[in-house]
Amino acid sequence: MRIKEVVETPEIEVKERVTLDPSRTAVVVVDMQNDFVRRNGRLYVPDAEKTIEPILRLLKKAREAGARVIYTQDWHFKDDPEFRIWGEHCVADTWGAEVVEELKPQPNDVVVRKRRYDAFFGTDLDYVLRHVVKADILVITGTVANICVLHTAGSAALNWYRVIVPIDAVSALNRFDYLAALRQVSFLYRGDLTTVEGITFEGVKTVS
Ligand code: ZN
Repeated sequence: MRIKEVVETPEIEVKERVTLDPSRTAVVVVDMQNDFVRRNGRLYVPDAEKTIEPILRLLKKAREAGARVIYTQDWHFKDDPEFRIWGEHCVADTWGAEVVEELKPQPNDVVVRKRRYDAFFGTDLDYVLRHVVKADILVITGTVANICVLHTAGSAALNWYRVIVPIDAVSALNRFDYLAALRQVSFLYRGDLTTVEGITFEGVKTVS
C-alpha cells in the first residue's frame, strides 16, 4: 500500500520581527557543505545555494552585534552506516565535507562535526553552548530543513533552548518537506519562524 493524497497545510505563523539579545544568541549554520550545496555534490539540495546570501546577511548582522556563530559539519567515516540510507556523502577530510567557500567559518566561530542528523547527538554542542558560547537562544539556518535542521532544532527545544528559524535561510528537497519542517518547529517545538530581515540583535555584547 502507498499513501498519496492532497492535503491543505495548516496556517504557520511567520513573525515579522524577532528581537534577540546577542550576548545570549548563537547562529547555527547547519551542514552548508559542498556535498549538499553544490551541483556536483553527492547529496545535492537544489534550493540550498540560494540560502547562501541570506545566511551571509544574517552572519554579518550577528557578528557585528557580538552574537557567536556555530557551524555543523556532517562528518562521516569511509564506511559509515548512514551510507546505507543516503549513499556516500560528507566523508571526513574530503571536498564534499567542506563548508562552502562563501560561508567559510571565521577564527572566532565554533565548528561541530556530527555523525548523524542531530547536531547534539554524540557531539559537544550542548557543552559549547552552555559553557563556552553561553547561549540559550539558537537561530538555526542551513540544510536540510526537515532532516538535520529539524533534528537539531528538536533537540535544542527539548533541552529548553529557544529556537528561531529564518524561513529564507533553510532549504529542503521539496516543498512538502520544507513546510513540514516549519510546521514542526512552530507547532511542536514552539520555535519562532521569521525571516533574516526580521531578525534584530539588540544591545552590544560587552567585551570582558
Ligand atoms: Zn550524513
